[in-house]
Amino acid sequence: MLVFNERKAIVSFLEPLIAQKKTIGFVPTMGALHDGHLSLLDKSLKENDVTVMSIFVNPTQFNNPEDLEKYPRNLESDVSKVEAFNKNVLIFAPSVSDIYKNNVTSENFDFDGLENQMEGKYRPGHFDGVGTIVKRLFEIIRPTNAYFGEKDFQQLQIVKKMVEKVNLPVNVIGCPIFREKSGLAMSSRNERLSKEAKEKATIIFKILKAGKKYFEEHSALATQSFVEKEFSKHQDFKLEYFDIAEEKTLLPCIRKSKKKKYRGFVAVFIEDIRLIDNIGL
Ligand code: AMP
Repeated sequence: MLVFNERKAIVSFLEPLIAQKKTIGFVPTMGALHDGHLSLLDKSLKENDVTVMSIFVNPTQFNNPEDLEKYPRNLESDVSKVEAFNKNVLIFAPSVSDIYKNNVTSENFDFDGLENQMEGKYRPGHFDGVGTIVKRLFEIIRPTNAYFGEKDFQQLQIVKKMVEKVNLPVNVIGCPIFREKSGLAMSSRNERLSKEAKEKATIIFKILKAGKKYFEEHSALATQSFVEKEFSKHQDFKLEYFDIAEEKTLLPCIRKSKKKKYRGFVAVFIEDIRLIDNIGL
């Protein structure tokens, strides 16, 4: 299995493949890999001649230094997981200095307001960091297709918008949320939960499903109150937000329209660990 730690090395490796018009599938990650990440890899392997996975904990997208410090990192075990899954995957795991030189800062982006909703409200600067790293990685890897999870639905829409605005020749492909049998959305952050908290966190998807049902007969506002009330029954949870938004613009749903598609988005703390999830309504 090939693991590249320097941008120059992977650029030289990919150059002849790109010249031969091979399709390059790309799966950007921050490591601490789980089956959700592997589901993206699987799709890329099926749809492309070459698949690259990046493993890079991007400092500029963390608004909270403690979160960055505590983010799980284990490159060796990540490489073993990928190797066991498929040896043909190329891994790109650069250092921060290789990507940012001496200037670990974000570019400023205008995502037409997508950045001002939900995660953008609670994590200032987060999406500028995401835009910066995804743009840099796209410039290095030059993928034909790039795979992003709907787990981070707002991020997926932001990346689509960035590609459109910067005019990059990349197809951005959204992939469904991969869940544990319990319904809990897989996340690298789940590694930091105690066994009890992981068990309790299964409530999140249960409440989202109940919210979906409630929304069939009620307004967005009433559904929001319903979901908030459900979370308030569980003392271990601190709900940051539950928002119902239109899928494309991510604007809050004021009055339901049959022509629009909506999603319910949640961010919640348990044991001081922030988890996010969402559901199509
Ligand atoms: P991360 O390493 O958390 O930055 O995630 C890397 C990519 O994997 C992103 O596109 C995520 O949306 C995606 N991803 C993370 N968790 C899941 C999941 N449970 N199901 C599907 N995709 C996921």
